[in-house]
Amino acid sequence: MSQGANSDKSSRMRVLGVPVDRVDMRQAISRLEEMLDQPGLSHIVTPNPEIIVNAGKDPVLRDIIEKAELVVPDGIGLVYASKILGWPLHERVTGIDFLNMALSVLEQRGKSIYLLGSRPGADGEAGTAEKAAKAMQKAFPGLKVAGTYHGYFGAEEEAAIVDEINRSGADFLCVALGAPKQEKFISRHRNELKVSVAIGVGGSLDVYAGNVKRAPAFYREHGLEWLYRLKQEPSRYRRMLALPAFMLKVLGSRVGGKM
Ligand code: UDP
Repeated sequence: MSQGANSDKSSRMRVLGVPVDRVDMRQAISRLEEMLDQPGLSHIVTPNPEIIVNAGKDPVLRDIIEKAELVVPDGIGLVYASKILGWPLHERVTGIDFLNMALSVLEQRGKSIYLLGSRPGADGEAGTAEKAAKAMQKAFPGLKVAGTYHGYFGAEEEAAIVDEINRSGADFLCVALGAPKQEKFISRHRNELKVSVAIGVGGSLDVYAGNVKRAPAFYREHGLEWLYRLKQEPSRYRRMLALPAFMLKVLGSRVGGKM
């Protein structure tokens, strides 16, 4: 069982059988503040529609989300789903906006962050995690970075990596291995990790490092971030089909009464 912050499970809704907390940004951040004050590790998951659909097919992932201390609905698809299901979410909290707010909390509270994941640098150059750490410290000058490590390691290296994270004294661990690899890494090591909070951040380090551009304000304000991403990386179109497929499934679950 979890040893970290107790989540208020009463505010959880279920989307295709997967639990999601009905939190807006302010509530999500206030839960983070509680987690930083409590003993044990709290796991924050930020599922988007693709992850919800995958959790339906992957019982291990689903169990991890079930046990997570906070499940923040990521993206516009979850807002639409919540409306269809009759538990409307008031706002969209994207994973990267949440991370940005979290960095500000960490800076104010003198807590440190460890970045694990994304591409290593070529030939002595800084890797993505190091570049992201620099960009984060530029935006939040008081932020303490306890360490970074790239995300292309074998199973045999994991114990040493966990050790290194613990020795760094980090309070907040960002794991950028893509979903569900990052969630499984956190779950596999949650009893050994000594951080207060661990969160999977997907491609966010690439955004901080400047490898991938975030959508301009117009797209973000209109819930069209997915369209911008499709224009940038057309090869992702297959993965993007997850959104309409997800909406149809949610509609179907409502009609069939299987919420
Ligand atoms: N990644 C990694 N190790 C792996 C696979 C992926 O560090 O074995 C990193 C990858 O470099 C990228 C991040 O995981 O920075 C997220 O990848 P992706 O965009 O596929 O994930 P999503 O944002 O869709 O969860």
